[in-house]
Amino acid sequence: MTAIPTNAITLPDMLRQPPETVRHLQDALLRRMVEICYDSHPYYSALMRREGLEPRHIQSCADLVRLPPCSKKEFLADPDAFRLRPELLPGNEGLLWKVVYTTGTTSGRPAPVYVTSHDHFAYMFGFKDRQDLIGLRDDDRLISLFPLTGFPLGAYARAADEIAAVGAAILFGNTGRADSPFPLNRSMDEAVAMVSRHKATVLWGVAGFVRRVLIRADELGADFRSVRMVMTTGEASSPAMRADFRRRMADLGCADTVVVNRYGSTEQGGTMIECCEGSGFHSALPDQLFHEIIDEATGNRLADGQSGMLAVTHLNRRGTVFLRYMVGDVGSLDHAPCPHCGRTSVRLSSTPVRTGDIMKIKGALVNLGNLKEELDRRSGLDEYQIVVQSQDADDPFSMDELLLRLAPGKGSDSGFVDAVVADVTRLTNLRPRVEILPRDQIFDPASQAKPRRILDSRKPR
Ligand SMILES: [Zn+2]
Repeated sequence: MTAIPTNAITLPDMLRQPPETVRHLQDALLRRMVEICYDSHPYYSALMRREGLEPRHIQSCADLVRLPPCSKKEFLADPDAFRLRPELLPGNEGLLWKVVYTTGTTSGRPAPVYVTSHDHFAYMFGFKDRQDLIGLRDDDRLISLFPLTGFPLGAYARAADEIAAVGAAILFGNTGRADSPFPLNRSMDEAVAMVSRHKATVLWGVAGFVRRVLIRADELGADFRSVRMVMTTGEASSPAMRADFRRRMADLGCADTVVVNRYGSTEQGGTMIECCEGSGFHSALPDQLFHEIIDEATGNRLADGQSGMLAVTHLNRRGTVFLRYMVGDVGSLDHAPCPHCGRTSVRLSSTPVRTGDIMKIKGALVNLGNLKEELDRRSGLDEYQIVVQSQDADDPFSMDELLLRLAPGKGSDSGFVDAVVADVTRLTNLRPRVEILPRDQIFDPASQAKPRRILDSRKPR
């Protein structure tokens, strides 16, 4: 096996290294990762043999294109096939530290992601080392607003690891509703009270949930003056939504109105962060993850600026390992040094589009992501959901219908809904039907980890 000295698996000031240096390190790490997968990864060892590939064929990230990409479909079909066989790994590398689960929304049951000792230390090291990109300080008091669910949610577990690495303090809101005989969950109002009681400085959670916490804090007259920063992950937050956050934070008299937009997934097990509004998401862990954009039809790698499926490859992991794994989002990459901060770590385009956001309605392709952005901009709206459904649910050939479920906020007048309908019609060429509902009926933060802004309830034909 290719030996890599342990002191050469990362570099000082990793995010500002010259691109050739990073490429050289990534190639060396990948060679090792591929060798390990060939020997002890059920899925990739079978795939490589089927494709007639041996480790010598994949000597660099450029060679990686020889390996066919995979997606959630293959992972969810057999999550354990993506776990390295721990008994084949040396020392503590394969010792199981913990298991976290993907949320598993539309694709079915949550799927396990195995984290070994090696992975746990790598993760913590990355966050300790890249603290300045994230903007967390060692004197912060952060409240995790990720729900306490009946299974170990990746974001819930990893928030603690990240804060432990930074040396800051953490509180757990423990909101949500777990299917457990031991009642532990707190209400949103209790989480709001915790922020005041402990003078939390950072709120971290899914964008749609944190937004509801800010709305509720205003209604309760809670003291949020200690809060200086909001971090959001787990749901794409548009620039309009982030502007809404800052407005609400200012109204609450927060110490500052910093909003940090993070992009990640349980499978990726890393994070990508905007250094400033619209900069694109910097990879925080180029020494652990390789990113590429793939043409889904051919499996080919696309050049910078071209839009396609984002795929991640683990470079140094020992539990669940992915190579060329398409996470399900569409975006483009930029390897040029960042014009805002000068960091050289690769950037993902600022608004990755969930693949489900573009859909065919009444025969025409409609980007509902644009519509989402428009609705995020509406300050008079507490919640909304865009539903595509059949006009007649029992008729398989029924016409499609666009339904808008709206919960207008306080102070919205009767003209508000008319204005929204006019905007939606202009953006989609479809006239929506509107349902006005209480906000908890659209997104109930007590029972859902994140809001479903776009719902396609048509039966597959
Ligand atoms: Zn930057």
